[in-house]
Amino acid sequence: MINDNKLPTATAVAPKLEKYSYSKLSTYGQCKFKFKLHYLDKNFLFSDSIATEFGTLVHTTEEHIAEAIRSSSNINYIWLKNNFILGCKALAHKYPEDWTKPDKSGRTYSEKMYLYLNSAIYRLESLMKQNPMLEIIGVEQKFEFNYDGVHSFTGSIDRAFRNTDTGKIIIQDIKTWPVPAQTSELKAPVQFAVYAMAAQELWGVSASDIHCEYDLPLCDCRQSALSEDLVTDGKAQIDKWFAGIIKNDFKPTVSALCHWCNYNPLTNPDILYTKPNAICPYFSTWQKSGDSVRDTLVKWENLDNVEVDRQFIVSQLRQQST
Ligand code: SF4
Repeated sequence: MINDNKLPTATAVAPKLEKYSYSKLSTYGQCKFKFKLHYLDKNFLFSDSIATEFGTLVHTTEEHIAEAIRSSSNINYIWLKNNFILGCKALAHKYPEDWTKPDKSGRTYSEKMYLYLNSAIYRLESLMKQNPMLEIIGVEQKFEFNYDGVHSFTGSIDRAFRNTDTGKIIIQDIKTWPVPAQTSELKAPVQFAVYAMAAQELWGVSASDIHCEYDLPLCDCRQSALSEDLVTDGKAQIDKWFAGIIKNDFKPTVSALCHWCNYNPLTNPDILYTKPNAICPYFSTWQKSGDSVRDTLVKWENLDNVEVDRQFIVSQLRQQST
């Protein structure tokens, strides 16, 4: 017999948060359709470049230096430099053309390698000597926090310092940019808003006690985020992006940046045969070397048309290539 007076015991289950990294969300900011292809349709296409691989070499070296300073150990520059040179030699072999091509600053990777080895590698040690009130409190500091009860952010902060005089926290993101950023790029960078929220959780400080900056070893400078209220401004942008994802707004952002997109069959023709279902049919026809006409072969209408548009592009481009 069922006892109707007895109610079933309710077990509280914490809602599962949808995990986001800054780079995942910023992909939506760059191109909503690219976000859908990568993260929702799970077409993971990765490609290395000399810029990302050189950046990794610098990051790894900087991480070792910061860890040595933090633990009051000797910085083994000889070992670090040897590893850096070996990594660069591999890059010169892998990307022979890019290795000798000057960038926006007029320097080649070979020149940047020597710049780093001869001077930039010592910048962190000098900074710490000139500012004895600074202590390193985080190196590749991992974080995860609940953003809004639905989404969580995960990631890692390159470097964090505490000013022992004021208690303020400095968050640094290391970039191997050839030239400093434009002022417009320094206003309310969402990446720093995420880091500042993480820092509040990690170190129990208020937003006003957090300073965020880029460290640019190849430009021998640091650039601060210019937003006065980084977290509030960043949250407004983050909320807008999350609202777009929830509304299924995946309209492509067609621009010259399509040239570097892995889902563009014009600049990544292998995809026509290896992953045709991952192709974006809405790419800009602009090419870095060639005519500079910015056009599209297929105009976006809505999500329902994607498959038909894709089939059309695949057949057109396959015909052209035969
Ligand atoms: S090719 Fe252009 S429009 Fe298409 S997904 Fe890539 S960036 Fe977006």
